[in-house]
Amino acid sequence: MKTRTKEPQILPRSAHTISRRLIDPDALKVLYRLQRNGFKAYLVGGAVRDLLLGKKPKDFDVATDARPGQVKKLFANCFLIGRRFRLAHIRFRGGKIIEVATFRREPEEIAEPEADKNNTFGTPDEDAFRRDITINALFYDISNFSIIDYVGGLDDISRKRVCIIGDPSERYAEDPVRIWRVLRYAARQNFTIEEETGQAIRSQRELLATSSGSRLFEELNKDLSSGHAAPFFRLAASYGMLPVILGDIGRRMEQSDGMTETLLGLLDILDKAVRRGDALSQDVSYSIFFWPWVQQVLQEKGNLPGDKVTLLTDEFVASKMPIIVPKTIRSNVIHTLYILERMMNALRTGRMKWTLKKRASYSDAATLFSLLEHGHIKPGSDPFAEAFRAKFTEQGQKGNGDVRKKRRHRRRKSAPPQPVPNEL
Ligand code: ATP
Ligand code: MG
Repeated sequence: MKTRTKEPQILPRSAHTISRRLIDPDALKVLYRLQRNGFKAYLVGGAVRDLLLGKKPKDFDVATDARPGQVKKLFANCFLIGRRFRLAHIRFRGGKIIEVATFRREPEEIAEPEADKNNTFGTPDEDAFRRDITINALFYDISNFSIIDYVGGLDDISRKRVCIIGDPSERYAEDPVRIWRVLRYAARQNFTIEEETGQAIRSQRELLATSSGSRLFEELNKDLSSGHAAPFFRLAASYGMLPVILGDIGRRMEQSDGMTETLLGLLDILDKAVRRGDALSQDVSYSIFFWPWVQQVLQEKGNLPGDKVTLLTDEFVASKMPIIVPKTIRSNVIHTLYILERMMNALRTGRMKWTLKKRASYSDAATLFSLLEHGHIKPGSDPFAEAFRAKFTEQGQKGNGDVRKKRRHRRRKSAPPQPVPNEL
């Protein structure tokens, strides 16, 4: 646990590796303009962490003692956003935004509706201590290129560990999403979790389910699109988090032997695709995520009378998942996975219900099929139809496919021949 110290550790330019060449030129412009106008201007948060770790930062955030109104006066391209805490967004070409926040402190308690908005502004040390983990609370000072560390983040970077700032129980109670964030950054950097930080996750993990479902959805989005979803879920599972964030879906994963491992294997495929830069829609990412669950539900209950899509929709609602997945995504995922299941089944049996091709989710299902079967998205109009043809038509035509003989035999007895679409 990190306790508050007044005096920061200051690392001069000669003692660290952050060069201005590594900082986004627009972020540098913002920092310099604030500084020239007499304000403190620090690069903060994830950018400092990533630069120290030798990684390319995703975005560059700035903190300053200038008030939002003062920032706005300095930049013509500045827009103030946020109601409770106002942030300045400085817009640059190509949609780039540099976020500038005035130093703030953690509000002591929920502010009265009429309370002075300014009462959350603070000093640099207060701003460091209101942050989540020590490695996310380092400042890079543009006035002398030093790194300012109020919280022991430099030490934790060299020890490769994630440590919450302050008392873990209090900080998780203030904002349970910090539990998720601790696991995220430990998984992403392959860092250990400091003992008290980790112990409090085990004792307070249920708190996370009380966070807003849409905020949890945002957190899940970040991990699914990070390229590090598998390590995150591996760590989250080891802390017993799956039932907390996924309700009955997570409980099933915990209780079934192979389901978590199946999920981790699928997430590994997703991570590789994300890191390759494959264009994956949110529907496809979420379909990968829910595939092990859908397979299990269909195995258990798929033979019951009634429509499978309705069955999956009802089961999803009954699972009481604290994360709110928007209805359109949920519906697309269920339709896609229903078709995927038919595809996988078709490859075993040689029978496919080709009318599914007309469904809107068919192309997502085919993309998913390719990703799961080949590990990448195969170019071509319909990777599933190609795989089906390769297995059942071409092999059969060459006369070396037992399957074809079997199918013919069965067909004569029961169903009329399966139509295979012309474009095959
Ligand atoms: P990423 O690369 O994932 O964006 P990041 O550190 O920039 O990493 P953000 O979610 O963009 O993460 O948040 C920016 C900064 O805001 C963090 O570095 C941290 O200092 C602070 N922060 C974010 N969320 C919280 C929180 N729930 N509690 C306290 N501080 C937070
Ligand atoms: Mg960020």
